[in-house]
Formats: sequence, structure tokens, C-alpha cells
Amino acid sequence: MHIIFLGPPGSGKGTQSDLIVEKYNIPHISTGDMFRAAVSEGTSAGKEAQKYMKAGHLVPDAVTIAIVKERLSKDDCKKGCLLDGFPRTIAQAKALDEICQELGHPIQLVINLVVDEKALLPRIEGRRLCKVCGATYHLTNNPPKVAGVCDKCGGELYQRNDDNAKSVHTRMQAYYSQTSPLIDYYSCRGICKNIDALRSIEEVFKDIDKILRKL
Ligand code: AMP
Repeated sequence: MHIIFLGPPGSGKGTQSDLIVEKYNIPHISTGDMFRAAVSEGTSAGKEAQKYMKAGHLVPDAVTIAIVKERLSKDDCKKGCLLDGFPRTIAQAKALDEICQELGHPIQLVINLVVDEKALLPRIEGRRLCKVCGATYHLTNNPPKVAGVCDKCGGELYQRNDDNAKSVHTRMQAYYSQTSPLIDYYSCRGICKNIDALRSIEEVFKDIDKILRKL
């Protein structure tokens, strides 16, 4: 099962990814998480990525494609994986086609989370992540049992430094100009499924799960 998650920032890709990974036991490949880890480790890719991430711009394709190619070549991706936040440009999608061809694992499904733009900012501003395991919460829609503490591992929750109104505006612009054309790119192949993501986490997951069970 090789799957891509598409959707604007705040559409719930991270939350739904956590649920899919738990049920289907496939690696969750989030380029955002990979870049955040590289930033905190202080690697050269992290230093390069940080300049763009802080302002809400996309990291250059060459850097992004290189980290994904390396990750997808690992053995644990042979049985499948969930790509969250990649591809985000047509150039990345074309590079992914080549990588998949080399590895012999075509993308089977693209799940496009559809959310009204007005709903996105409150979702993003209330988002909190676990410093240790990366689990995603929301202060009102999906709060942890104990404020500030991860239910899964007890780690401390934090707010991403790019989850502020200014950077979110830039990220939205990047999404609508550079990423949304991917909906057509994959729809032409008949593998893109639109999901109304303005509903509860459970309802959205139920629909996604129905599609995954048929793969
Ligand atoms: P995310 O966690 O998916 O919201 O990503 C956080 C930030 O990481 C984005 O705003 C970009 O700066 C960078 N990023 C993540 N994935 C990509 C990608 N596929 N291409 C370029 N930049 C990315």
C-alpha cells in the first residue's frame, strides 16, 4: 500500500496519518517531520531547510527530493508507506514517479483532504505536537487528556514556530499555487479520492479506512 496525502496545511493530514499508521502498520513519511528533525539535529539539510520553513516557504525541490529518495529506498518501505506533505510541487511529483519506477512500487492511491479555507487558520493555531513522538493534538478538537502532555508517550506538547498567522498565510499561498495542481495531476490517473475533511476525526477516518480496505 503506497499512499499520498494531499491537502492544505491544517486539513488533518498528520492526525489522519497517525490513525492509518497505527491500523495498517506502514511507515509514515512526513517531509515536514523529517525537516524538523534535521533542524533540531543541526544537519546541513536542516540548516538549509530552516531558512525556508520559518517563513512558510517551500524548501527547494532538490533538497526535498533527495531526502525522500533516501527514505523510500529503505527496506521498511517495500511493503508500503504513507507520504504526508510530499509531493508538494509538480517537479516533486515527477521525481516521485521516477523513484517509484526504479523501486517498482507505484503510488496506488492519493487521498485529497478537502477543507474550506476559512476553517484552516483556527485548526492550525490550536495545533500542538508531541516533542518526543510527534503525535498531533488540537486544543479544542482533539485535546490531550492532561493539558500539555502527550497521551501516547507522556512527552511535552509544543506549538510549531511556523504555526502563526503570518507564516500560515505564506504556506496557504504556496499550497494553492504550487501544490493544488497535483490534484489534477493524480486525478487524470484515476487514483485521487476526495474526502470531506471538515467533519470529525472519526468520521473522516471511517471514510479513508473504507477506501484503504479495498486496496
Ligand atoms: P508540514 O509539516 O508538512 O506542514 O511542513 C512544514 C514545512 O516544511 C513546510 O512549510 C515547508 O517549509 C517544509 N516542507 C515540508 N514538506 C515539503 C515539501 N514536500 N516540499 C518543500 N517544502 C516542504
